[in-house]
Amino acid sequence: MRKINYRTEEEIELIRESSLLVGKTLAEVAKNIKPGVTTLELDAIAEDFIRSHDAVPGFKGYNDFPGSLCTSVNDEVVHGLPTKEALCEGDIVSVDCGVYKNGYWGDSAYTFSVGEIDEEVSNLLKRTQEALKLAIDVAVSGNRIGDIGFAVQSYTESFGYGVVRELVGHGLGTDLHEAPEVPNYGRKGNGPKLVEGMVLAIEPMINLGGKSIRQKKDGWTIVTADGKPSAHFEHDIVVRKGKAEVLSTFEYIEEVLKTI
Ligand code: MG
Ligand code: MG
Repeated sequence: MRKINYRTEEEIELIRESSLLVGKTLAEVAKNIKPGVTTLELDAIAEDFIRSHDAVPGFKGYNDFPGSLCTSVNDEVVHGLPTKEALCEGDIVSVDCGVYKNGYWGDSAYTFSVGEIDEEVSNLLKRTQEALKLAIDVAVSGNRIGDIGFAVQSYTESFGYGVVRELVGHGLGTDLHEAPEVPNYGRKGNGPKLVEGMVLAIEPMINLGGKSIRQKKDGWTIVTADGKPSAHFEHDIVVRKGKAEVLSTFEYIEEVLKTI
């Protein structure tokens, strides 16, 4: 098993800087989400914004991924490729963004609605975001990785949703994906112990229907097996005593959404 890194306060500040830039980038994307826009256009907006802040859109070229964003529409769970296809009223789009700056990563994701969406899908988005909050609440030193997964799984399954198993959160720092894995399912008290200075990307991927997924022929995009929508929210946090500190933010996004 790979070794878990414990970050110094100086390193945490650099991860925070990258994570905040992701939040600002997602807000730029949010300004442009409307029926008719393509995810390829959103991708270009994100890339320009990140580069204009002296940072690298880290997803671009990561394992040969072509975009600066992962854009996953409706039944697409994660790792969706930006395309020339326009978003439509009633769609949802999960936008995942990674930034690399000063040697450290930020990684955060938000699922947006395109115009008015069905109430059951709207509830899925709200509850997936709430699951992320509940997960962060238990990401404190002395707890274990399984406590995070349990928090997400017990809450979201109470609504009959499917919790994706094959894709998980992760440690984060000088690499995008570091140990430990942070599953969105689990048992209380199981798994590696949470220790101060561990930086984790927590990212529930929750399906309106069943938990099963498959990969599209493009070699990237993950979709739900039953074709039902899926939501994805992600924050970067550092484990502290008593209360985790969130390094990424949705504040800039929420300011934009208030004006739409
Ligand atoms: Mg991500
Ligand atoms: Mg991630």
